[in-house]
Amino acid sequence: MTAITLTIFDTGYCRQLEAISLRGGEWRMVPFHALAFGINHPERGLVLFDTGYTGHFFDACRTFPLSLYSKVTPVCTHPAQSVAAQLQNQGVDLPSVRTVLLSHFHADHIGGVRDFGQAEFVCMKEAYEHVRERRGFAAVRHGFLPPLLPDDFAERVRFIDEREKVVLSDKYRPFTEAYDVFGDGSVLAVGLPGHAVGQYGVFLTDEHGQDIFLCADAAWSSRAYRKNVLPHPLASLIMSDVYAYRKTLGKLHELHRSNPTLRIYPTHCADVWRLGQEGQV
Ligand SMILES: [Zn+2]
Repeated sequence: MTAITLTIFDTGYCRQLEAISLRGGEWRMVPFHALAFGINHPERGLVLFDTGYTGHFFDACRTFPLSLYSKVTPVCTHPAQSVAAQLQNQGVDLPSVRTVLLSHFHADHIGGVRDFGQAEFVCMKEAYEHVRERRGFAAVRHGFLPPLLPDDFAERVRFIDEREKVVLSDKYRPFTEAYDVFGDGSVLAVGLPGHAVGQYGVFLTDEHGQDIFLCADAAWSSRAYRKNVLPHPLASLIMSDVYAYRKTLGKLHELHRSNPTLRIYPTHCADVWRLGQEGQV
């Protein structure tokens, strides 16, 4: 398998009640960081897994009814926190980013898409089909802000679920099949339905031989998948399919139990955010 390195970008946060995101959590507001991941691939260059928040979010929320999004989840991010700004700060030329993987189309994952004008976007077909025609209330109630996508998005998107499936090694059980994103076995995508239609996560192995699973919003914290703890029933209001969410979380829990050395990184997990802050991916 091709060796890759992983970086974590903190793109800002919104505040949420802890007890909503995790049953048994406290009734206090906690920051809910939106992370994005950089997958440094030896042949493909820097590949992004989601793009977090950017200033585009505020632009998209300027008018009603899309403004409801920012009222329900007040977002705190500043320009230097966008993935694009962080990359430019590191001397990375943005057009060199040729691939952006989008786990799903919620605004906290596609906020930076517009900053990567040369990139191809990779998602599940059903995820895009579910949102592409939605506008106004029909969009915002699914956590989707249409202005976040560039006008030429439809020409630049590629669907991973149109590829052949490959059989996964036993270490990823109960996941048994995946889409091989680059055809070299380095990034393997599996469907994680429930939180959003067509959500997926990716397995990869870093340069130290560490297996990592970027599981997007299939779990909101490490505790959730370790203990198989569901969010508060109120959180089901924003889920596309509560039954599927429960089933997917159960699979993450089983995966963790059968392979405890695998690192599972939920996008909004405070532990993963801390690893990123400490530079210990
Ligand atoms: Zn999210």
